[in-house]
Amino acid sequence: MIIDCHTHINNYHNEETDSIKECIDKLQLEMRRNRIDLALVLTSYKDTVGRPSTRRAVEATRDLKNVFIVAGISITGFTPELLEEIRGYINEGVVKGLKLYPGYEPYYPFDQKLRPIYQLAEECNVPVMIHSGDTYTPKGKIKYSHPLHIDDVAVDHPNVNFVICHVGNPWIRDCMEVVYKNKNVYTDISGLVLGNFSDRFESYMRKQLQEMLLFGVQPDKVLFGTDWPISSMESYINFMQDLKIPEKDSKKIMYENSVKLFKLSVAESSLHNGSAFSWLR
Ligand SMILES: [Zn+2]
Repeated sequence: MIIDCHTHINNYHNEETDSIKECIDKLQLEMRRNRIDLALVLTSYKDTVGRPSTRRAVEATRDLKNVFIVAGISITGFTPELLEEIRGYINEGVVKGLKLYPGYEPYYPFDQKLRPIYQLAEECNVPVMIHSGDTYTPKGKIKYSHPLHIDDVAVDHPNVNFVICHVGNPWIRDCMEVVYKNKNVYTDISGLVLGNFSDRFESYMRKQLQEMLLFGVQPDKVLFGTDWPISSMESYINFMQDLKIPEKDSKKIMYENSVKLFKLSVAESSLHNGSAFSWLR
């Protein structure tokens, strides 16, 4: 089984915007091609024609058994009503977590304005994924997306689980420390490349991730995610195979940790695409 805990259905490039249905069809096709059984779709902090709101994403995926939503929230755009709406989706089982985008928006994760969001996460027992590291746009302000800031919220909200997205790239060492130190902090490996890995970059990243696992970050804290459509699913599957980590650790990273953290029931993920990866059996 493979779970991709970090995908999007945003339009990043297209002048002509794909409809939400076209985006989801493309996602499903990519999942089938790469034998990914279940994907979490992270909605944006923006609500535009090309970036569907959580409500639109929920409505478009509600009947799918292999796609669930993580609700992107803007620090300037959220209201008590929106949080109540998201609480309803969580109770319904269609939203599995929350996502914040510091760096894309200029705020630190420990900003007091975010308290109601962390409170919702605690009450509903869902993790908060936090963008970390480089931003896809040069307009991002990356002092806000340094993984070290996530230590503050992890300490102040010990009953909330956090995911440092993109292993905080390029601040992977700092991410390692925050994950290692805090039992409520995880990290996903998504979004390390645009499109496919080049040979040199792939071997560079492979060394860094092997180092991370070697230097004390438990495989129980690392989640497989791609950031599709920014990064390709195929190159990520190949990348994971080339990491050559022990099978029991691979299983944790590829799906077991996500099942536990996002509380994905086996029934929900039973409509899988084959699980034919011998290295995962
Ligand atoms: Zn992403």
